[in-house]
Amino acid sequence: MSSFEDVFGTTPDGSWRAPGRVNLIGEHTDYNDGLVLPIALPNRILVTASKRDDGRIRVASTGHRGVIQFAVDELGPGSVGDWAAYPAGAAWILRESGYAIGGANLLVDSDLPSGAGLSSSAALLCATSVALLGLRDIDVDPGEVARLAQRAENQYVGAPVGLMDQMASMCCTAGHALYFDIRAMSTEQIPFDPAADDLALLVVDVKAPHRHVDGEYAARRKSCEQAAAELGVPALRSIAFEELAAALDRLPDDVVRRRVRHVVTEIRRVEDAVALMHAGRLRDVGPLFTASHASLRDDFEITVPELDVAVDTALAAGALGARMTGGGFGGCIIALTEAGTADSVLAAIEKAFAEHGFNTPNALAATPSAGASRVG
Ligand code: ADP
Ligand code: MG
Repeated sequence: MSSFEDVFGTTPDGSWRAPGRVNLIGEHTDYNDGLVLPIALPNRILVTASKRDDGRIRVASTGHRGVIQFAVDELGPGSVGDWAAYPAGAAWILRESGYAIGGANLLVDSDLPSGAGLSSSAALLCATSVALLGLRDIDVDPGEVARLAQRAENQYVGAPVGLMDQMASMCCTAGHALYFDIRAMSTEQIPFDPAADDLALLVVDVKAPHRHVDGEYAARRKSCEQAAAELGVPALRSIAFEELAAALDRLPDDVVRRRVRHVVTEIRRVEDAVALMHAGRLRDVGPLFTASHASLRDDFEITVPELDVAVDTALAAGALGARMTGGGFGGCIIALTEAGTADSVLAAIEKAFAEHGFNTPNALAATPSAGASRVG
């Protein structure tokens, strides 16, 4: 790997990191004004940076060839393509928001798998944002940086993502999950430290072959919006768990009914998980994970065989609970296990994947970690 000096011919002024994330529970409730509960991973994007006084940004990544450069003043949505769209988008939205970020040399390094549903895109946007702001000693609230990073991903990169990933990358704290209420736009740090309870949270990237899922995502959103309109509410969050049966009776379409049942029960499971975490009953969160997976598989229909086999195998090998996490159709599962059984649960998943002829999965230890910060 080339050093910053080799790439840019100058010494850095500092380094900033922003982590990836997994959502513990609350899947596909974000665009229904729901509740999510992500943790930040120890894996992160690291941006090492130095100031430039010519208003240009030069950016390189240890995972990619070459140095890409552009003038901050000339940026407009889509003006820089490929992976550098993320740092360019971060610079664009900061400039649009009136922050005098100036020029910079940026070297991106990562130990966060890309495209695995662990939100390397949000981590890259957030790490670049805090680096550009930090270089100029501009202090911006982490939640505001998250909102700007989301706008960059929506408007510059063109990806219709919600705010969870950026909030997790900016606002999580070690030993906690971030309880994020999207309707209220409020957050609360919930104690979640599996290791302190002799537990482990295993994240397994199932490496499912890439499938074209944009259409599926759009279809799920449309079903939810259609159901909310039929029920006369602004979003499915408005349907309380106690009202679910009555609401389902009013929906003629079986598919739409099942989509609604997932969203309403999933929001309830987030509330239940938070209550259990507050009570220090982490082991009891496991069955909620498993129920969430069943709902995503049967009602929301966004799992694939790799995800189902990984979850079923983890449970058969003694996990306290397991579920897919992320948008679905691939990505990762999480499994809550006794600390002493994490290795055997992973070995069982690897064995099952070999037997099924699936790709070799990739595991990460998911210690709940801190959000973005300066590191040097
Ligand atoms: P995810 O956010 O789940 O990892 P995305 O498809 O949203 O998946 O984002 C992945 C994209 O982010 C990559 O295709 C690449 O453009 C960019 N990216 C991630 N990590 C890096 C990196 N280390 N260097 C450069 N670009 C990266
Ligand atoms: Mg992403």
